[in-house]
Amino acid sequence: MSDTMLLEVEGLGVSFDGFKAIDELNFYVERNELRVVIGPNGAGKTTLLDLICGKTRATSGSIRFRDRDLTSLSEHDIVKLGVGRKFQTPSIYENLTVRQNLELSSPGGRTMLSSLFFRRTPELDARVDEIAESIYLTDQLGMSAGLLSHGQKQWLEIGMLLIQDPELLMLDEPVAGMSVPEREATAALLNRIKENRAVIVIEHDMDFVKDIGRKVTVLHQGKILAEGSMERVQQDERVIEVYLGH
Ligand code: ADP
Ligand code: MG
Repeated sequence: MSDTMLLEVEGLGVSFDGFKAIDELNFYVERNELRVVIGPNGAGKTTLLDLICGKTRATSGSIRFRDRDLTSLSEHDIVKLGVGRKFQTPSIYENLTVRQNLELSSPGGRTMLSSLFFRRTPELDARVDEIAESIYLTDQLGMSAGLLSHGQKQWLEIGMLLIQDPELLMLDEPVAGMSVPEREATAALLNRIKENRAVIVIEHDMDFVKDIGRKVTVLHQGKILAEGSMERVQQDERVIEVYLGH
């Protein structure tokens, strides 16, 4: 694997009852890259993330992350190697405060909080404050997470992944249901995040995709239909036909 490449997916396939949701897919992501994956419903976008994070097992092919093949590893081991994944619905602890949610998600946080001897350290406090600022939730640190707006809950969940410092962060439709200002703030957040890690974002919202303005991969029927800049992809006849045209 070359030094600049973080993720190399080759010949990847998965079938559900004979239906090929991902079909002989080759997909490469470099270090510090922000990649957007678009495609019509059922194209296989979520399945691709499920395969990378170990939630779904591949029928064929390989997924190399740094120097490891992920296809035989458990979800837990894949997280430990530095792959963080956000699902479409936020999974935060509504009854805990924003601060507690972040603390719980910090490396070793689960054991710490359940232990009688849990002590906040200045290092942890500083890390929580830093993450809270980046996800626009400094003023909400003491608030119950259940009281946050939908968009703020999405940001909190991104923060809960960031505090684990993953080398690859995968987000499935992070701006779904967000207001326009929230979408713009999320685009700014992602542009900052990718300064020291790779990010794969699945997105439907074309204005948002333009805001983050990076290399785009168009998935269709489990295969890559087109790849390149948003401008280039938008002019691709096949893309217009299957996706942008309707
Ligand atoms: P997208 O995220 O691009 O909308 P998905 O990856 O969710 O698409 O789904 C791709 C296809 O695979 C769909 O036809 C979906 O019904 C099917 N699929 C996904 N996961 C499963 C599963 N666990 N079992 C059976 N079929 C599935
Ligand atoms: Mg999906």
